[in-house]
Amino acid sequence: MISIDRSSQTADLGDVRVANRAVVLRHVRTHAPCSRADVAARTGLNKATVSSLVGELIEHGLLRETGLTENRVGRPATMLVLDGSRYVGLGLRIGADELVVVAADLAGEPLLTWRRAFAAATAGPPETVRALAALARRAVTRVTGAGRTVLGLTVGVPGPVDADGVVPSAPALGWRGVPLAADLRRALRDPGFPVGVDTDANLAVSAELRHGPYAGTADLVHLTGGLTIGAGLVSGGRLLRGGRGFAGEIGHLPVRPDGPECHCGRRGCLAAVAGVDAVVRRLLPDVAVDGPVTDYLPEIERIQALARAGDAPVRDGLAEIGRQLGSAVSVLVDLLDPEVVVVGGHLAALAPWLLPAARDEIAARTSGPPATVRLEPSALGSAASALGGATAALASVEAGQLPVA
Ligand SMILES: [Zn+2]
Repeated sequence: MISIDRSSQTADLGDVRVANRAVVLRHVRTHAPCSRADVAARTGLNKATVSSLVGELIEHGLLRETGLTENRVGRPATMLVLDGSRYVGLGLRIGADELVVVAADLAGEPLLTWRRAFAAATAGPPETVRALAALARRAVTRVTGAGRTVLGLTVGVPGPVDADGVVPSAPALGWRGVPLAADLRRALRDPGFPVGVDTDANLAVSAELRHGPYAGTADLVHLTGGLTIGAGLVSGGRLLRGGRGFAGEIGHLPVRPDGPECHCGRRGCLAAVAGVDAVVRRLLPDVAVDGPVTDYLPEIERIQALARAGDAPVRDGLAEIGRQLGSAVSVLVDLLDPEVVVVGGHLAALAPWLLPAARDEIAARTSGPPATVRLEPSALGSAASALGGATAALASVEAGQLPVA
């Protein structure tokens, strides 16, 4: 006797429909404006299926018709684009001296980018959670007041994050075992949308993959510049997370055995020579006597001005930091063979003086054929990981799930 498990059969058909919705959304995202016939021709789905899926996606506010028509032989067709008017993802970032929030619509367009000064390295987890929640609430109020619905929120942290949204260890912040996702959910009083946490470098490279001059680069690395340095790794178009989700902790790669002590307790880590605090203290000795730095931007601008004016100690110092950065990047180049390595934060701000030395070091150190990797400053600015967080918060819809709102 043949028995059929109807529940699993229904689930399978449902899964196919979810997957097909994702295919349609992805096609429209990359090729909009496009017609239903284009979607069918380019995705291999049949026209009736596309028609049904598009109808459903329009009804749920994920696609809209533009009214434009294709100017080609045959019947004019209604064109489709992503509907950015209804749903929003929020991304937050814990920076060295600021918190950033970005709201982005389904089309990936940033709707707002807000910053507030915040000394994350000395604040401690409870105060950080309170400040993140306050900033998130203000952003939620703004976007819901404009008639939009928040589908999710993702926070970028400068350190590894496990699958439950716990930060096991972030030496740059002095955090150990902080259940950030759960704490933030509680501080937001169960806001009715998912709250996620990820390593800022992973979110930043996801933003690079979608926005800016290196969008679509299949083998791409983003190095975050901040209190520590993290690597977001994309290989073959996929984010590399590693077994526990902790891949990319390049900040604690030793680059100078006799170097300064790192937050992690070892010596000569990349973060201890090229992290923002290390760079500022090394190049501006007067800063060291004033106690902890709470606002890095003016100090980075002072370094830029001195470098522009040809100040020899500052230029030599930047070149040496650039060589140490290059030696760390050469390890990535040998391991992953990326096309482009993008640097963010203060590393991008100081790129004209850091990157030439770093490129020379990569050329000298990589084994095998001469490295063709490009080392470039990020064009996305210090909000890159918050933008990536906003996009990540829309991931379930992009994967074909319909919003329940
Ligand atoms: Zn370290």
